[in-house]
Amino acid sequence: MTTAETRALVDIPAELLPLISLPPLEVLSDARARGAECVWGGEPLSTATAIDLGEREETDGGHWFPRACRPCARRAVLVARNEHPGLCEQCADDSIICKTLRSLRALALELRR
Ligand SMILES: [Zn+2]
Ligand SMILES: [Zn+2]
Repeated sequence: MTTAETRALVDIPAELLPLISLPPLEVLSDARARGAECVWGGEPLSTATAIDLGEREETDGGHWFPRACRPCARRAVLVARNEHPGLCEQCADDSIICKTLRSLRALALELRR
């Protein structure tokens, strides 16, 4: 029943979205800024393949809704996972019990499928 075409979309938990850094909006094409193309690689996206990166607010108060293809999203999650321990007090103390680090790992695994 489950095929490659119908694999479940990955939902990035809201609390992890701020940890995933995006390219600055001003360098992005219109298609990338409105989520028609992957915000990182520019791959064309469909609702079946796109990964939602949540609503982002600009310093000027504007809102945009970036989306990404799965490989780029996975790369970005891995970057966030690698950077997280250096930014986290809990991880400096004991990374085994850091919930954020665990969620980032789980998300990277989910995106690998
Ligand atoms: Zn991409
Ligand atoms: Zn942590």
